[in-house]
Amino acid sequence: MAKKQFKSESKRLLDLMINSIYTHKEIFLRELISNASDAIDKLCFISLTDEKVGMDRSDFKITLNANKDARTLTITDNGIGMDKDELENNLGTIASSGSYKFKKELDEKQDDIDIIGQFGVGFYSAFMVAKKITVNTKRYGCETAYCWQSSGADGYTINEIEKDAPGTEIIIEIKDNTEEENYDEFLEQYKIQELVKRYSDYIRYPIMMDMTHSRVKEKTKDSENPEYEDYTETETLNSMVPIWQRPKKDVSQEEYDKFYSEKFMTMDKPLRTIVTSVEGVVTYKALLFIPSSAPYDYYTKEYKKGLQLYSSGVLIMENCEELLPEHFRFVRGIVDSADLSLNISREMLQHDRRLLTIAQNIEKKIKNELNAMLANERENYEKFFNAFGRQLKYGVVSDYGMHKQDLQELLMFYSSTEKKLVTLSEYVDRMKEGQKFIYFATGENASAIDTLPQTELLRSKGYEILYCTEDVDEFTLQTLMTYKEKKFCSATNDDLGIDDKENKEEEKNNSALLTFVKETLGDKVSEVVASKKLVSHPVCLTAKGGISFEMEKYFNSFQQDSGMKAQRVLELNLNHSVVKAMEKSIETDIEKAKKYAEVLYCQALLIAGLPLENPSEYTDLVCSLI
Ligand code: ADP
Repeated sequence: MAKKQFKSESKRLLDLMINSIYTHKEIFLRELISNASDAIDKLCFISLTDEKVGMDRSDFKITLNANKDARTLTITDNGIGMDKDELENNLGTIASSGSYKFKKELDEKQDDIDIIGQFGVGFYSAFMVAKKITVNTKRYGCETAYCWQSSGADGYTINEIEKDAPGTEIIIEIKDNTEEENYDEFLEQYKIQELVKRYSDYIRYPIMMDMTHSRVKEKTKDSENPEYEDYTETETLNSMVPIWQRPKKDVSQEEYDKFYSEKFMTMDKPLRTIVTSVEGVVTYKALLFIPSSAPYDYYTKEYKKGLQLYSSGVLIMENCEELLPEHFRFVRGIVDSADLSLNISREMLQHDRRLLTIAQNIEKKIKNELNAMLANERENYEKFFNAFGRQLKYGVVSDYGMHKQDLQELLMFYSSTEKKLVTLSEYVDRMKEGQKFIYFATGENASAIDTLPQTELLRSKGYEILYCTEDVDEFTLQTLMTYKEKKFCSATNDDLGIDDKENKEEEKNNSALLTFVKETLGDKVSEVVASKKLVSHPVCLTAKGGISFEMEKYFNSFQQDSGMKAQRVLELNLNHSVVKAMEKSIETDIEKAKKYAEVLYCQALLIAGLPLENPSEYTDLVCSLI
């Protein structure tokens, strides 16, 4: 039969495939296997009502065969097959849904190559790796079988052939290696096996291939120089029923754990396994895992968030970012929805309402599971929080605090009184009579905060203090602003909301001393006050206004002199012997009193973790007083 030309739009797609520099050429196998599976579905369906088919569900299969000598890879199915018209229409034009969509998008975008990876491109994708393709097929119920052949752009032929059973055999003659491209690998059994595992593991019919392995010859088993021999076995490459399609009650935790570690290549066991099956506006199944530790690259750009997206057991996207909100980016897992087509593009998917609905449901589900874990598996939750708590805090701070309501119950902070992580709700439940605020203190680590003089008064009153030891902590609390209508208050804040009648009295009695210190220090401090916080320390600094010392340090760590400067209030412990000594010196030796004031200010800076303005001046001062 004479060569026929491809329809012009098909030709363009074909050219693209033949000349493709696309790096994931391997997806062709996924496409052909999916087609084979669809064809089997069709005949399998007929066989339910038509005894003449003479086949059982268990008779259907897809067979792969690689022949290195002939450089062919053959994909055979015993599905419905195609008649002449179908061959003509399906493989001669882009009439089929998927390819047509592809073509349409192609016209809209000029960025040809990039699109390939984002689509299922169907049958034509085989031309990325093929010199020539032969399709031998016989439609169920037809007498005649046909052979469709094409070497690409110059058209195709259709001829009658002899073929007994219905079904389709696609023979791909693999291209020769080039400098850039190793096509030989598509003839390697291990590569093929890997591709089937990666992309088509859950195709419902067995994908079989003769696999050759090596073994020690029986006779030489016990000898010192064992001899080896090759043997060939037909193996099923795919696991067929995805673990997430099996009812939860039939799957053991060990099986889930094994799946998790194989799929996500980790030695860890998940902290929690979430299995959900939803039927409704969108129907989908999801199998999600909360990891027990953060991958080494978790807090870097390398880490890719997302869930694997399947459509009826066929992988359509390795990392579908849209399925996870940023604050739950640690979740691993898969979503399978038959409602999403194999041929959906990334762009279309992003705006797909069904995907959005799935994503919203999943976010809710994860949140509920974390809450349940917090309520019922405290130890596990703390383990989780140690690994990913920072992510939740980022979640509170990001998007202008949009997610804070959702996340606040999941937060934990180290508590001064409980000596362990506590939730905000636990804190508020324990608040003392008359306690106005939720107190927090910031520092490098818990032991540094334990000794902060500013916290002395709070401790002496028995108030619980939450410890902020990570950069993001204070911003988190600032973003929350309140929890259960209680405001957050830093221990270094000048107003701790504690009744200070006595203090006012003390300040009045000591106003001369306070004025003296303020005048000595000048602009370095905005105020000098009698401390209500200090018990055993002579001085401390507190911040007035919106900027805390921690924020000042944080911003200055990016940019020296960032202009972020907290207003410094110097608090004096009027009962402290050093302060008393300074007061005495005002009358006897004013210069010495000034030195005292300077030294005390420097000490307050050091305790607050702020840099000294002039360290050598400070040491000179101390020396001159010794
Ligand atoms: P899509 O699968 O997206 O429809 P393809 O280009 O992959 O697009 O395939 C076009 C059509 O060719 C399919 O819809 C199907 O009707 C037919 N086809 C492809 N492979 C087979 C096969 N192995 N058996 C029967 N029909 C097939």
